[in-house]
Amino acid sequence: MSEAKSGIPACGWVLDGVIDLMPACEDDYASCEWCGNEKIRFVHMLSHPRHFETLAVGCVCSVRLTGDSVGPAAAEKEVRSHSAKRERFPDRKWKDTRFGGRTITLAGRRVTVAAKAGGYRLWIDSIEGRKTYTSERSAMLAAFDYIVS
Ligand SMILES: [Zn+2]
Repeated sequence: MSEAKSGIPACGWVLDGVIDLMPACEDDYASCEWCGNEKIRFVHMLSHPRHFETLAVGCVCSVRLTGDSVGPAAAEKEVRSHSAKRERFPDRKWKDTRFGGRTITLAGRRVTVAAKAGGYRLWIDSIEGRKTYTSERSAMLAAFDYIVS
């Protein structure tokens, strides 16, 4: 692997954040823009004070390009942990409501999902949302994203 790629700096990058692509299929994964490694789910967004474009890379290249052996892995771990909690949320113990829905408490907020209007509706602290979700699971995940993210 060459150190300099057509004027792109090989060091001095700063990690701006890690993004979970939440892939649903093969096409949803990214490739590392530095080494070309494929099937990356957790993308490290790097910027450089003396280069005008950002780089989207995997964890290994993130460590290398930032020169930080701790930060990138810690940032990815945090995103992984958040994603794991999010994915488990619909499978937690929801209670059935008298009205045919299901309810749970998340971070002190009352979340209720019920079939309505040909799909699923979401209530948070008894306030009904306006959106109709195609699945119960997507309504549950929307609640998680609103409350936790
Ligand atoms: Zn790479």
